[in-house]
Amino acid sequence: MSTERTPSPNVSRREFLRLSILTAASLLINPKSETQDTPEGALLVEPTHPVIYVITPLKGRLSDIVGNGYSHLQRTYDSKGRTGGLHIGTDFNIGNGDEDLGLNIRLIMNGVCIFIGHDDSRSLGNIALFRHRLAPGVDVVSRFAHCLEINSNLEVGTDYRPGKIVGKVGKSGWIKGPSHLHLDICTTDILLERYSGPEADPWWFPHENASTTYINKHYLDPAELISKFPKPPPRRSEYCKHTPPVL
Ligand SMILES: [Zn+2]
Repeated sequence: MSTERTPSPNVSRREFLRLSILTAASLLINPKSETQDTPEGALLVEPTHPVIYVITPLKGRLSDIVGNGYSHLQRTYDSKGRTGGLHIGTDFNIGNGDEDLGLNIRLIMNGVCIFIGHDDSRSLGNIALFRHRLAPGVDVVSRFAHCLEINSNLEVGTDYRPGKIVGKVGKSGWIKGPSHLHLDICTTDILLERYSGPEADPWWFPHENASTTYINKHYLDPAELISKFPKPPPRRSEYCKHTPPVL
């Protein structure tokens, strides 16, 4: 007589139910799997709250984390001295070498994550894009590039507060020099023209012959935005330290 047991119909049914619940739970926990790395649709998700304040993407004063890389509209050169056109956005870095490799990159203002993409073969490497509402009817898109990695708990379609960890400073993409964060901020015209639709390309970058007028029309200077926008309110403990209680 064989000792092999055949599964009873009851056990199979229970197992079936268990698997169904697990599958449903994983779909609820990971709704991003469908939209991750898929620009169409997700790119058009709008932020729910306007921007209140803007912080630096790396810890430190603005003057300490810019200056070693290209600034907005600065003329770029390759290693052979040939110009690569005007730089779009700001390069943030610390030190002259790879001192900042692996440091946390912070979301500079509240906004909704609209795209995450990993591609070392593209000039900007690993990127994350966020849509922000600077004022009613005025949306912009920030693009964090050359990341070593993107924070694995970021979800496309989710709204985040300033300070959310976007990823780590790296040198993915076409970097010959030291690690840094490339951050550019474009208007939604570019978003609709270049990042969405059938020809969507969230890595798209203006041609090296793009004029100052064109860049000024479609891009903001991230360093200028950070310096001009209000800073976060003081922490409650600091507030209590400096302000006598009202009796
Ligand atoms: Zn750059």
